[in-house]
Amino acid sequence: MPDAPVRSFAVDARSFTAPALAPGLYIVATPIGHLGDMTLRALSTLAAADLIACEDTRVTRVLTERYGIRTPTIAYHEHNSGRQLPKLMAELVAGRSVALVSDAGTPLISDPGYRLVAEVTALGLPVIPIPGPSALLAALVVAGLPTDTVLFSGFLPQKGGPRRRRIETLAIVPATLVLYESPHRVAETLADLAAILGADRPAVVARELTKLYETVVRAPLGELAERFAGAPPKGEIVLVIGPPPERETSEADADQLLVAALATMPASAAAGDVARATGLDRRELYRRALELKGALQADDDDPDADGRDDGEGA
Ligand code: SAM
Repeated sequence: MPDAPVRSFAVDARSFTAPALAPGLYIVATPIGHLGDMTLRALSTLAAADLIACEDTRVTRVLTERYGIRTPTIAYHEHNSGRQLPKLMAELVAGRSVALVSDAGTPLISDPGYRLVAEVTALGLPVIPIPGPSALLAALVVAGLPTDTVLFSGFLPQKGGPRRRRIETLAIVPATLVLYESPHRVAETLADLAAILGADRPAVVARELTKLYETVVRAPLGELAERFAGAPPKGEIVLVIGPPPERETSEADADQLLVAALATMPASAAAGDVARATGLDRRELYRRALELKGALQADDDDPDADGRDDGEGA
């Protein structure tokens, strides 16, 4: 069998050898704007793969030409996946290496690839990540909002009703939210977000990240909605929204805490403990503790109050 041809890529006219790849599906992240954001491993993988599966071969060619990569490409997108998926699977089953790229960023993140990865993993074949740019993380790390708990919800539904219903499901999620949005819907979406999540929720509109007109606007949702209603932004947009304020203790929550405290201490001490834990007024809590204590004692005196059914029909 003839030796596999030596593959290479070029950076600033310097040529680099791309070592041979083990068979498998390589998920390769590509730039979201700035072509310099290609990693060396991504270049080497694209150069050495037997085949590059890409959303739009013309878009990927800009990247491969820039880096002197001559690997054959095949289109794999939403509209042809039914036809192309079996072809890619046949290549992988035959022991070849396939690199999957999208037009920009990380494949599968609001981009095609999920079905392919699911089928490949179902057969027990290798899937190898080649991490790199994604608008989701680029926006999150410049937003200045908490990053410990994050919910990425991709694109919201385009129609108003379903979009608002989706936002309602996100309203009390205790996480920073990250959304993708098209520039011509961003004003409507910000208005819906402000109306449902609250005009005061801190938020960020991150536009054209890593590109010439990169802009990051940080303001409460209400202000962003007003600002962009008048002048819809151009270019690619990520919205990042801070988590909801910590829930204020409701009367029902306070009652629950008082009842628990009254099980082990007198009313005044229970009121003091709950006041410290919740910041609620101690005198008001004491009054409520006495009421609850009265009710609890009345329950104790009531033979039916323990919930047992001692009467007929048992
Ligand atoms: N797979 C990509 C990723 O990893 O970010 C996302 C693909 S999705 C089809 C395209 C959306 O990503 C855009 O509509 C926009 O919301 C966001 N996006 C992509 N590039 C961006 C950029 N340079 N600046 C801001 N948002 C960007």
